[in-house]
Amino acid sequence: MKAFEEDTQFKNHIFSFNGKVYPPITNKPGTYILLIYLPVKQKLRVGSLGEIAFSPGYYAYVGSAMGGLRGRTNRYLKPRKKMHWHIDYFLQVGQLKEIFTLESKQKKECTISCLLAQNLLPAVIRFGATDCPCFTHLYFAPEKTHIKKILKTKLKVIPAANGHFAPPGPGSDY
Ligand SMILES: [Zn+2]
Repeated sequence: MKAFEEDTQFKNHIFSFNGKVYPPITNKPGTYILLIYLPVKQKLRVGSLGEIAFSPGYYAYVGSAMGGLRGRTNRYLKPRKKMHWHIDYFLQVGQLKEIFTLESKQKKECTISCLLAQNLLPAVIRFGATDCPCFTHLYFAPEKTHIKKILKTKLKVIPAANGHFAPPGPGSDY
């Protein structure tokens, strides 16, 4: 099998003064990352994971939106009463600050999660990752700049022959 390399560049969406997402998010399938700010330490029950103590700082959550990025990320813009995913619980206390999107027809959330794992601290074990091989899909950094710097770099995805994803080799942007 011939290995292929692929550069991935996320698109950064912010909130305008009236709460609208700018630039608007496409409804094509893809991967998204939520940049979430937690101002103070919080203890919170996160579904099956139980009670978790979250440190103040910035969090990056990786998810897939194979049914459309706009529809999926829209669900995070409104307050929710019904908790379904781990991230729904965390967004009760965390403030969604920015959204990053990456269009793709293939599911890439675990690949992106692997890349983030090399640069950020895992926040909570198995968060958003109960049915995949990842350690977590939620990462932590004390400063926002740390996360943004990584997401603004082109992440190099090099799928290995066995279907797992290899870390970026020498010469990558890290
Ligand atoms: Zn995963």
